[in-house]
Amino acid sequence: MNSMNDDEAGFGGLQILDDGDAEAAPVMPIAPIAMEQPADAVPGTVEGSGGSHARVLIIGSGPAGLTAAIYAARADLEPMVVAGFVPGGQLMITSEVENFPGFPEGIDGPELMANMRAQAERFGAKLRDVDVESVDFSERPFKVTAGGATYTGDAVIVATGASAIWLGLENEERLRGRGVSACATCDGFFFRDQKIAVVGGGDSALEEALFLTKFGSEVVIIHRRDEFRGSRIMQNRAKSHPKISIEWNTQVTDVLGEDRIEALELTDTQTGEKRRMEVGGLFIAIGHKPNTDVFKAYLDVDDKGYLDVSDHTLSNVEGVFVAGDVHDHRYRQAVTAAGDGCRAAIDAERWLEEQADAGAAATPGASEAVSLA
Ligand code: NAP
Repeated sequence: MNSMNDDEAGFGGLQILDDGDAEAAPVMPIAPIAMEQPADAVPGTVEGSGGSHARVLIIGSGPAGLTAAIYAARADLEPMVVAGFVPGGQLMITSEVENFPGFPEGIDGPELMANMRAQAERFGAKLRDVDVESVDFSERPFKVTAGGATYTGDAVIVATGASAIWLGLENEERLRGRGVSACATCDGFFFRDQKIAVVGGGDSALEEALFLTKFGSEVVIIHRRDEFRGSRIMQNRAKSHPKISIEWNTQVTDVLGEDRIEALELTDTQTGEKRRMEVGGLFIAIGHKPNTDVFKAYLDVDDKGYLDVSDHTLSNVEGVFVAGDVHDHRYRQAVTAAGDGCRAAIDAERWLEEQADAGAAATPGASEAVSLA
């Protein structure tokens, strides 16, 4: 999902909204395929590890993977979804999603994902809550080893998403969803008239800071060096904004607060001096990491490490399609990921039809056609 100029790019991660009063979001280490959420949060099938063959094998169970599963299942392609040991994607660490169409009152992220999963299963998609260990895309059928079993697919849709990079502080994790966020577009609304800190020195941090000026009384960019990495135009905008101030050569070394964030412990990166800064919110904007490690032997990535796509949703391997944040560093929204999953399923279905037609031409009477309608 990468197309337009990043200098005009969208924001943060998937649309993750948090009202600040929610229970603290559980935090789990980010694995290449495993998404960040409680393992038992999505009601659904936790199947055994027997392995199987599917017309369409989908890897990932965020909005892209599950939307692909809905479309592929409705096309009678009987998709298998390798969902990850902790399925559901980034929305599983979200309390309220207010910008996914169709939910005028908003919907909890885990509930939205549970609904998508139930919808996919209703049409016959099978899900395995296991992490991918390795893939072999060198020949067809494609092979995916997950949870100790081997799954094969005539076509594969890769929808493993991307994960926000966090500072790695214990209290940052504890207070996630309680004033600590990685998505200003999603959560900025909840910090009206408060002092907000943004960590980072790249375009994401500058963009998040500028966006947050709409809500906060003041916005402080905390950067570990004495110059920004972001583009000159974004730097100039941030530096000249009356609500934005900058703490150079400064690291956030602790996040303070009991039930929600109250202050930061800041450390001067040059002198080591520590001090406290009261804040109402903390946005971490130090980059995202696409979950692509397991595919790198087969699939091309761009200069930012995101999967390359061509011809709409096709990877460099014919029959392997790509959907969602694993290739999109521009939009990163739940709704765009879902739309991308739809596109990948339609492309996979059409490609399978072409394969069947080619096979039928070679073997009279063996044609097969499915429809997404
Ligand atoms: P980035 O360019 O890699 O910048 C990450 C920033 O976070 C750097 O300033 C880095 O500091 C800092 N950082 C990294 N780890 C840190 C840590 N542990 N503690 C404190 N600070 C840390 O990432 P990005 O800003 O997300 O941008 C990614 C790409 O998307 C870039 O190519 C960017 O141009 C593009 N993008 C563009 C826009 C836009 O123009 N509207 C918006 C978003 C993203 P150092 O500088 O010291 O390394």
